[in-house]
Amino acid sequence: MTTILLVAERDQQGEISQASLQSVAAASGLSDAQITVAVTGEASGSASSLPVEKVVSISEISSGDSGIYEQATADVAALVASTNPDVVLFNKSDFGSVVGARLAFRTDSAFAADCTEISNASGSVSVTRPVYGGSALAEFEIASSPAIVTLRAGAYEPTSKTGSPSVETAAAGSADIRASVTDTVAEARDGVRLEDANFVVSGGRGLGGPEPFSVLTDLANALGGAVGASRAACDAGWIDHSHQVGLTGKSVSPDVYVAVGISGASQHMAGCSSSRAIVAINKDGDSNIFKEARFGVVGDWEKVLPSFLATVRELKA
Ligand SMILES: Cc1cc2nc3c(=O)[nH]c(=O)nc-3n(C[C@H](O)[C@H](O)[C@H](O)COP(=O)(O)OP(=O)(O)OC[C@H]3O[C@@H](n4cnc5c(N)ncnc54)[C@H](O)[C@@H]3O)c2cc1C
Repeated sequence: MTTILLVAERDQQGEISQASLQSVAAASGLSDAQITVAVTGEASGSASSLPVEKVVSISEISSGDSGIYEQATADVAALVASTNPDVVLFNKSDFGSVVGARLAFRTDSAFAADCTEISNASGSVSVTRPVYGGSALAEFEIASSPAIVTLRAGAYEPTSKTGSPSVETAAAGSADIRASVTDTVAEARDGVRLEDANFVVSGGRGLGGPEPFSVLTDLANALGGAVGASRAACDAGWIDHSHQVGLTGKSVSPDVYVAVGISGASQHMAGCSSSRAIVAINKDGDSNIFKEARFGVVGDWEKVLPSFLATVRELKA
């Protein structure tokens, strides 16, 4: 039997997030899996009908804990100490990356970040993760227990199954709060989150300035997707860093990733190489992005993008 403690996250409506439903699917795929899901706050709504053995409610994330997650780390550490799971599974999100890494330090365990696959077919827990900016996939077998894993959004289809788990409330772990958040500024966002989007339209230095991002936004809106960017575009101040895709930005795995005026540097591809299809628009036919793209147009984005957008709108109408 493989025991899994899955630390779930909520969406803006307070329901279990799509990324966490993908993690449930990943955990369910392990042979002889026994899954406990930890949710912050009350285990109501979709949390109470997950297709798992047990749902445990841990402390709600207080607004003052935002980005630090001291209490959540203490709560998950207490659950790990009392239940001794083989795997602790998080989403590769800010929350999962912070709490997962802290938990690994506390439990002296291996931390496998940003994985696209998890398996126990060989008898021990192994994971697959993109390396060298997504140009290769590496498999790791995790010797220590628990194996602490963050899973990239989009790597699995979200589970559509439901169940009747037992629901419990865990005693709060003892947290040594050494820092507190004095102010938080909500990220302004219309529409779908970049990490959850099925379509991402990203712009790079080739756009030449901030204004063209409005055309990218029009295309993203027409596709029901989100806007991303290369670091060069973010560093130039053309778009906020919250849109950055890549090694030091966000990881995305949409169905379609449209890269406009992006050269395809390995650090950028690290964040989007697991997209199902990459579409490149670039005026330099020798640009690296064409080695990664399934479809490409060699041309000036100013000429290509308007007809692309018009065709999408026509097909959607
Ligand atoms: C430690 C480290 C971490 C990094 N992390 C990231 C990261 O997270 N994300 C990231 O993106 N980068 C990251 N980088 C930077 C990365 O190496 C590249 O510098 C960056 O991705 C380049 O961005 P770009 O493709 O927009 O710009 P460029 O490389 O300058 O490419 C611009 C492209 O636009 C094309 N172009 C120009 N004009 C037009 C036009 N009119 N129409 C169509 N195409 C046009 C050009 O042919 C060119 O291919 C990191 C670098 C380091 C060292």
